[in-house]
Amino acid sequence: MNLSVTDFLATEARLGTYNYEPIGVVLSRGEGVWVWDTEGNRYLDCLSAYSAVSQGHCHPKILAAMVEQAHRLTLTSRAFHNDQLAPFYEEIAALTGSHKVLPMNSGAEAVESAIKSVRKWGYEVKGVPDGQAEIIVCTDNFHGRTLGVVGFSTDIETRKHFGPFAPGFKIIPFGDAAALEAAITQNTVAFLVEPIQGEAGVIIPPAGYFTKVRELCTASNVMLVLDEIQTGLGRTGKLLAEQHEGIEADVTLLGKALSGGFYPVSAVLSNNEVLGTFRPGQHGSTFGGNPLACAVARAAMRVLIEEGMIENAAKQGARFLEGLKDIRANTIREVRGRGLMLAVELHPEAGRARRYCEALQANGILAKDTHEHTIRIAPPLVITGDQVDWALERFATALTQDFS
Ligand SMILES: *Cc1c(COP(=O)(O)O)cnc(C)c1O
Repeated sequence: MNLSVTDFLATEARLGTYNYEPIGVVLSRGEGVWVWDTEGNRYLDCLSAYSAVSQGHCHPKILAAMVEQAHRLTLTSRAFHNDQLAPFYEEIAALTGSHKVLPMNSGAEAVESAIKSVRKWGYEVKGVPDGQAEIIVCTDNFHGRTLGVVGFSTDIETRKHFGPFAPGFKIIPFGDAAALEAAITQNTVAFLVEPIQGEAGVIIPPAGYFTKVRELCTASNVMLVLDEIQTGLGRTGKLLAEQHEGIEADVTLLGKALSGGFYPVSAVLSNNEVLGTFRPGQHGSTFGGNPLACAVARAAMRVLIEEGMIENAAKQGARFLEGLKDIRANTIREVRGRGLMLAVELHPEAGRARRYCEALQANGILAKDTHEHTIRIAPPLVITGDQVDWALERFATALTQDFS
């Protein structure tokens, strides 16, 4: 039975919760930067599943590692050891220069795990009175969708009617080091922040911000927790976005591209004793650190390095950014980005970004709006110069389209 696009959409509307508003395309196949819909149309993927498919769709080496591991052993739970976990620890620690690793599944779970870790560290190492730990976060943050996390969001849609929420979070403006200085107290255990705010629309903080943040956190013995779930693993043209700032986080969160899009794999990485306070029974996950996840993540990290994807992200990101800046369209208010984490912000008068994404779809590009007026652009890190140029032509067409 061949279902039409209308059939797929109708069934989803009938049986699914309406918690997403996807572009009306039904995808059935992917390879590298390309995806195909059920009608055989080809698109260049400029979203990469919110940066999870950085290594390109169905990367053959990650696929092979996954299939091979799936034939041998998929899940043991952490009640037993498995032969993939230790090598995964070795490789991710060596890659990121971390001392301890806590494997989880989704990004939000990594964030929750980090919150638990820094609170526990605060009580047991820093000496914060029990129940008093404070964590500072930023306006317009995005750290996932669990209750703990949405409780400190500043986006009304994200929070509304999901409360009551957990206390213990202070919100300060992003990019404002003086606000951080003012917010830190003796009970502050951590500052949780994205190096570049992704979901907020690729918001890059002012130069020098993170140097100051690092100084303030060090001076007050506050753990700097960088959520690199989106910015990490080469997306911004460096392995970690913190490297652009010349700093090191105390706790780094990875997810998304850690599996190249094959499987949910996330990790909390720490440079110090934060992860050392856990004892058996205090935290866990049935699937966290499972052999299939570890095998997939190991292959995903390996190809990222071996195939020069991080350098390519820097090179093609610069080309893409320059090309976007060259597009003369009075719809464009600002173009910004670092590496292959890019955004085009439209003038409010240009109308919703959504219709430009639909125009892009008609031109063979899949991109997603964020908020009303921003189009984010995050193709797989394997994109070539020719493909960037191909995409730029289509962006120029879509962004100058007359909708009247
Ligand atoms: C996507 C994302 C998350 C949440 O990851 P999930 O796997 O969707 O739970 C957390 N933080 C940042 C910065 C993200 O971009």
